[in-house]
Amino acid sequence: MPNKFRVFATCDIGEAIDLLRHRGYEVEVYPPPQAPPKSLIIENVKSGVDGLITTLRDSIDAEIFEAGKGTLKAVAQIAVGFDNINRADANRYKIPFTHTPDVLTEATAEFAFFMMGSLARRLWSAERLTRENQWGFWHPYLPFLGDEVTGKNVAVIGTGRIGLAFIKKCVGFDMNVLCYDPAYQNHEFVKKIEEINALRFAHGLVKEKAWIEYVAFEEALRHADFVSVHVPLLRKGESATPTYHLFNEKTLRLMKPTAYLVNTSRGPVIDEEALALALHENWIAGAALDVYNVEPLPANSPLRDPTIADRCRLMPHFASAARITRLSTDPAKGMAGRCAQGLIDVLEGNYDGDVTKMPYVVNKEAFAKEG
Ligand code: NAD
Repeated sequence: MPNKFRVFATCDIGEAIDLLRHRGYEVEVYPPPQAPPKSLIIENVKSGVDGLITTLRDSIDAEIFEAGKGTLKAVAQIAVGFDNINRADANRYKIPFTHTPDVLTEATAEFAFFMMGSLARRLWSAERLTRENQWGFWHPYLPFLGDEVTGKNVAVIGTGRIGLAFIKKCVGFDMNVLCYDPAYQNHEFVKKIEEINALRFAHGLVKEKAWIEYVAFEEALRHADFVSVHVPLLRKGESATPTYHLFNEKTLRLMKPTAYLVNTSRGPVIDEEALALALHENWIAGAALDVYNVEPLPANSPLRDPTIADRCRLMPHFASAARITRLSTDPAKGMAGRCAQGLIDVLEGNYDGDVTKMPYVVNKEAFAKEG
């Protein structure tokens, strides 16, 4: 028998929508590429939809859950981060919400790595030179030089899925790794990387044996040539170790003046005013950002200042933006497929209807059996 679920998607997630339609779902997709106004999401939820497909651009909180009282059964977010969804509100209304972990891990990690390399080796300035016909000579150090990545010290802030995948990329570039994570320290992983480093050294593939260790935050910042951030956005009250403005005037000043900062996590993890000042006054050598406090990046952002453009790379929240990662309908490969599967699990009561067993549900705590 076809499933008669009604779903509203706040954006098109490609062929995964047809996957739901083929199962009998009635799916309405908000057509423009921009996010719908919240009032429109509320209107749709009020009309009695069973499921909501959301992106990180939508603010999902008590207002939405109240509008869907008695009818809304699931929210499926196409992203691994879910800081736009008020978890406490979802729990109060007992609405499970799902996300799309793992399938974007390697794509995000490789993008962070490429951002690091392109920032340090000044690829943007170098290509501009060529395109603008300013390439007048070959010279040992003019008009500018970049910094090598190979063999340098990299601090990885947050050693969850993406942080660990990022470390794997760094190992191929003979980098020493300073890990920092107050909540999750994967010593098994560190041991494996040490074994690989030892093997590369033993086989003569590298002149010096690279190292990896967990250290305190301040120590990581003080000794790093590169700092790459892979934490979730956790505001005050959401965690014992919040990440909101983890990078601020005080912590940015701990970094070496020759060090580079890369952020593919969430914008509010960095105090952007402080970072702009750090770049102006050369407390650090450069920054490459994929995420911002307000997205899209406002026209008047201090990060757009042309006087720091040579050391400030600005990407449009693009780290997971790779074809298979974003759109594959296979839940083992793509965010779209995993998003649809998360919704199907909840609406169709997979796993014997036990929400705590559904792999993509985030707020399992709201459904734990008492006693
Ligand atoms: P994860 O939950 O596997 O890892 C996050 C890690 O951060 C955890 O190990 C956690 O213990 C650690 N952490 C928490 N608080 C910390 C703190 N104060 N200091 C240091 N570490 C802390 O998540 P993930 O899958 O690796 O994703 C990480 C984040 O990356 C997501 O939450 C999302 O916001 C962001 N992300 C961005 C993009 C993009 O397109 N730019 C793509 C994917 C993910």
